[in-house]
Amino acid sequence: ALDEDAVRLLEMLAIQAAQSIQRGQLFEQMERMATTDGLSGLLNHRTFQARTDEQLALARRYNRKLSIILTDIDHFKSVNDTYGHPVGDQVLKGVARILQETARDTDIVARYGGEEFAIVMPETDAAGARVIAERIREKVRTTTFETELGPLRVTLSLGVSTFPESGADKATLVEKSDQCLYFAKRHGRNQTVTVAEMEAGNRLRIAETA
Ligand code: GH3
Ligand code: MG
Ligand code: MG
Repeated sequence: ALDEDAVRLLEMLAIQAAQSIQRGQLFEQMERMATTDGLSGLLNHRTFQARTDEQLALARRYNRKLSIILTDIDHFKSVNDTYGHPVGDQVLKGVARILQETARDTDIVARYGGEEFAIVMPETDAAGARVIAERIREKVRTTTFETELGPLRVTLSLGVSTFPESGADKATLVEKSDQCLYFAKRHGRNQTVTVAEMEAGNRLRIAETA
């Protein structure tokens, strides 16, 4: 029923609409590639830094708590050494999924480094963060990861710092979480340590040696 000109016009509009949709999809894809980590699908280190700055600014402005969990897979090198890097990657992906699923939608979940992850929890005090950290630890501890070389299990150590009591800025908070993580590693791994627990532990040791 349409004449030739009308058909040509409709074709042109359709092509333009398709191109516009394609550009949108491309932009989305590029944005995802720039902000997330290819292996785990979690936010990458740079995006972690930027989002944490934003959330800390809000916490400071509105006098809110904010907690940062740093976590590291225990003896992960031996997983790679025993089963190979590709199997290690499969375990990493599995752990990343548990972190994402266990965290809340408002939390920032990122791959901080190789087999280290960070979770920033706005509006969360040390006790609340500890509950989540333990939930994550327990979930990972009891999960069997299916890999091409058979079922595998790993554990996590976790360090928790909290704004404002553990530190006033991002660098200090991350450093405190890292110290707690190191404390957890030194004291047997597969555990969560908060700043208060680390400091109490250190006080106890100083008292014992005095
Ligand atoms: P610890 O309990 O003290 O953390 O022991 P660990 O062996 O986990 O610690 P270490 O930091 O020595 O080893 C980390 C390992 O993580 C070494 C590295 O090969 C591995 N790793 C880091 N990134 C990746 C990755 O993307 N894929 C795989 N498969 N392994 C990775
Ligand atoms: Mg490790
Ligand atoms: Mg490590």
